[in-house]
Amino acid sequence: MSHRSEPWNTQEDEWRRTITRVRAGRSLAPSSWPDGARCAVAFSFDCDHECYELGGGGNAIGRLAWGEFGRRVGVPRILDILGRHGVPATFFLPAVCALIDPTEARRITDAGHEIGVHGWIHENNSKLDAATEHELVVRARNILKSQTGVLPVGFRSANWDLSWNTIEIVHELGFEYDSSLMADEDCYELVVDDKPTGVVEIPVEWLRDDAVYLMFNREPATRPWMSPDDVFGVFRRELDAAYETGGLFQLVMHPFIIGYRSRIWILEELIEHARSLGDVCFLRHADVARWVREQDN
Ligand SMILES: [Zn+2]
Repeated sequence: MSHRSEPWNTQEDEWRRTITRVRAGRSLAPSSWPDGARCAVAFSFDCDHECYELGGGGNAIGRLAWGEFGRRVGVPRILDILGRHGVPATFFLPAVCALIDPTEARRITDAGHEIGVHGWIHENNSKLDAATEHELVVRARNILKSQTGVLPVGFRSANWDLSWNTIEIVHELGFEYDSSLMADEDCYELVVDDKPTGVVEIPVEWLRDDAVYLMFNREPATRPWMSPDDVFGVFRRELDAAYETGGLFQLVMHPFIIGYRSRIWILEELIEHARSLGDVCFLRHADVARWVREQDN
C-alpha cells in the first residue's frame, strides 16, 4: 500500500488487509536451550561496509572510507574477540561487499561463523517491485554460496526496510529464518495473509542495535551519541532480562560502528558478563532457528 495522505479515511477492509500481510504467528519460545542453557545469546554483525553508502545511492569518498574501516579494522577485531572466547556468531553481508573483497566471507565461515543474506547492495527493498527484489535476493545468495560453499539460510533486509513481498520471497526461496522484524522478543513463526510460512523470525529491535546510539550523521545531525558505557548498560540489561526469563538475547552490531578502540570492548565485556551468569549458550542465528523449530515439533 502506498502512503496515504488521509489515513483516517482508510476503509476497514484496507487497514485489515494491510496489517495481515505479514503478521507474527505462534510463539517459538523454547522451554530450554541447547545443553540445558537458561538463556541464548545470538550476536549478529551487519557488514554493510562500502554498501552503506552505495546502497543509499551515494558515492562520497569519505563515507566509502568509513565503510572501508569496517572491512579493514572492524571485522578483524570482531573475529579476534569471538575467536579468543570461542563464541560463534552471524554476519550479514551484502553481495557487493562480498565482491569487493572475495576473501572476507570465507574468512568468516572458516572461523566457524554463519553468513546471512543482506541484500545485493544494501538496497531499500520497499522501493522494489517483486520481480526485481526476488532476482536480487537470488543473485546475492548465489554470490555468498559461491564464495563460502554454503547456501545461506538466513535473511536480513537492509535497514529493516521490507516491501510487501519480502517475507513471501524469503519463504519461496526456502530461507529458514528472517531477522528483520520486531513483533516479539522471542522467536515466532511468520504468517503471510493468514497462512503460516514455517519461516522463523529471529526478532531484532532498534534498542539492540549499536547504530542507534553510536552512529554519527553530519547532515542531518539527528542521531544522538551515547557514551559506550551507557550503550553497554542497555545491552547488559537486555541480556540480564533475557537470562531471568529464559529467553533470547539477540544483538545487532556493525563493524564500522562497534569496531573502534573506544567501543569494541562492549562486545568482549558482554561475552564475559554472559559467561559469568553461567548457563548461557552462544548460538549463530541459524542454530537459533533450527533449535526453536525442533523444540516446537
Ligand atoms: Zn545493514
